[in-house]
Amino acid sequence: MIIDGKQIAQQEKEAIREQVAALAKQYGRKPCLDVIIVGENPASLSYVRSKIKATEYCGFEGELIQLPEAVSEEELLRVIRERNENEAVDGILVQLPLPKHINEQRVIEAIAPEKDVDGFHPTNVAKLWLNQQCIVPCTPLGIMALLEKSNTVLEGRHAVVVGRSNIVGKPVAKLLLDKQCTVTIAHSRTADLGEVCREADILVVAVGRPQMITGEMVKPGATVIDVGINRTADGKLVGDVDYESVAPVAGAITPVPGGVGPMTIAMLMYNTLQCYNQRMTN
Ligand code: NDP
Repeated sequence: MIIDGKQIAQQEKEAIREQVAALAKQYGRKPCLDVIIVGENPASLSYVRSKIKATEYCGFEGELIQLPEAVSEEELLRVIRERNENEAVDGILVQLPLPKHINEQRVIEAIAPEKDVDGFHPTNVAKLWLNQQCIVPCTPLGIMALLEKSNTVLEGRHAVVVGRSNIVGKPVAKLLLDKQCTVTIAHSRTADLGEVCREADILVVAVGRPQMITGEMVKPGATVIDVGINRTADGKLVGDVDYESVAPVAGAITPVPGGVGPMTIAMLMYNTLQCYNQRMTN
């Protein structure tokens, strides 16, 4: 089975769009997401364009703030603080990565936790691990939605997450744990990655190395979620999973493109709506 992230994301956005139409009538204003981008990195610009397109589709308000590559950290922090204080803004997203002269962590921590639609602020991270209500990072949330929509049984099953980043690997491992999986996190120092992966009923791969997971590393019938987005020399987009060799072995698999990518954007819309709802009902 191919898990069609594009289609599931579209359904999610349609549901959000309907809710927004009703909520805007009830509260007299629409959710508002401001997106800040620094510099001209082509990949970042392309992600930001997709995010803006989705906000428009969902009926959100919002502003795209484009700052020059050379902008000072102080100026970026000032722009964020201004949005923190603006009552009309529900969500603030700073597109990462940032230029080297800017301290990324300081920027993440400057965003008000209640407007932190990416869920990267330490307050949201801590709350996630303490099982408290919080904003959950978009990609892990999207992965869980894909597993749910594809009716993947999680309870009591072995999930292996390859990659331990703060934005994907660690939070998705926590969410899988919450769903009663037995979770293993593998990384660059894992002794025998193939052996660990072959034990997975659910295999989530977020490494950033093109097609590194091959068919012989996958248990027959496993559900494989490929988070990777890599561009090959000839401009093709490929995942961290070698689709050709893994698809015949796996029970279910997400394609790249059209798997986790569109879900990440749909979950950004979901998080913005959550921030809006929280603020309107508080
Ligand atoms: P990071 O670079 O932050 O983390 C990569 C992880 O992979 C690290 O934990 C690293 O281990 C591990 N790793 C690297 N090499 C190996 C190896 N040979 N064997 C096992 N593990 C290895 O990446 P991200 O988590 O930010 O992103 C991962 C991928 O997902 C990228 O392709 C990125 O573009 C994509 N992505 C896609 C999104 C989407 O919406 N679809 C959203 C976010 C990311 P160690 O910790 O030991 O260094």
